[in-house]
Amino acid sequence: NNYLPSDKRYDKMIYNKIPCSGLKLPAISLGFWHNFGSSTPFDKQQEIVRGAFDMGITHFDLANNYGPTAGAAEENFGRIFAEDLKAYRDELIIATKAGYDMWSGPYGNGGSLKYLVSSCDQSLKRLRLDYVDIFYNHRRDTETPLEETAMALDKIYRDGKALYVGVSNYLAEDTEKMSQLLADLKTPFVIHQPNYSLLNREIEAELKPTLTQLGLGAIAFSPLAQGILTDRYLTNVPEDSRAHSSSQFLTEERVQQDIEKVRKLNEIAKRRNQTMAEMAIAWLLRDGVITSVLVGASRLSQLQDNVKALDNIVFSAEELSEIEMILEK
Ligand code: NDP
Repeated sequence: NNYLPSDKRYDKMIYNKIPCSGLKLPAISLGFWHNFGSSTPFDKQQEIVRGAFDMGITHFDLANNYGPTAGAAEENFGRIFAEDLKAYRDELIIATKAGYDMWSGPYGNGGSLKYLVSSCDQSLKRLRLDYVDIFYNHRRDTETPLEETAMALDKIYRDGKALYVGVSNYLAEDTEKMSQLLADLKTPFVIHQPNYSLLNREIEAELKPTLTQLGLGAIAFSPLAQGILTDRYLTNVPEDSRAHSSSQFLTEERVQQDIEKVRKLNEIAKRRNQTMAEMAIAWLLRDGVITSVLVGASRLSQLQDNVKALDNIVFSAEELSEIEMILEK
């Protein structure tokens, strides 16, 4: 293997600082939920990861259960890391998570000390890493006291298995409590990972202002609504798309619900000389609250398109209100 990263990799990417930390993340990060499991050819995965790093995408987001099958995405990343990226470990921010169903029995799910610590150990083996940069609790498990989940994140940090910790899918109130608990423990809690896109604006009411107030980083997942906010479904549902595959997370019915809005949004994107995906990403970065937009990609060309969003992240007041009108209907 003879991969040498581009020496221009830092020329164009924008890096945003997390307000409460010295840590910077690329404005576009790459997620491994889909397209990195055992059903995608390894060379295709490798091409996307190499291409990502060549464009200055220094942040890769994983979780214990990403696949299929669960664990496969971490294993595949581990192999790509060992073959291509080992020499660049200090240029990378690698994240993983635990919170959803991972192994059978009572200890393979949730937010307990038992689950998070053992899952982190398993992830490090699959990833072939000594430590991850960010370890997240993937969801708030209301059966576990928040204090225990905080202790688990603190232990993982203290034991040198993660440099920073974060939470995902937490409500504003729990995020605030977690922030206080981890501040008391002096654990570097720096980031929240919520679902946020033109088609899912739930966080705007409470969580987004809370993140600003706490100075936490915000990394938006499913920013393209799994592909609905791209040109992929404007005319039909292509055979090689996520909605056409057996994915239980994105159905053709779900695509149809919003496609009329997306066609109208796409007209605004055209006027801005952007693709639909580019505009959807730019819109998330419009007010400076989102640290990084966490995209998925089934091929390198999609990722190359997504990075072009950074050429224009400014919206006129007219464009913004036109977008609001389309979304309200
Ligand atoms: P996106 O909303 O970015 O959707 C990605 C899909 O959109 C791609 O697989 C591709 O679909 C399509 N696409 C991407 N770029 C383009 C483009 N330029 N033109 C046309 N189509 C495009 O994100 P995901 O839903 O994949 O989520 C991203 C990441 O967020 C995950 O990998 C994971 O790391 C994280 N995540 C976290 C969750 C959490 O609970 N914390 C939950 C979900 C995701 P196609 O495959 O059809 O080609």
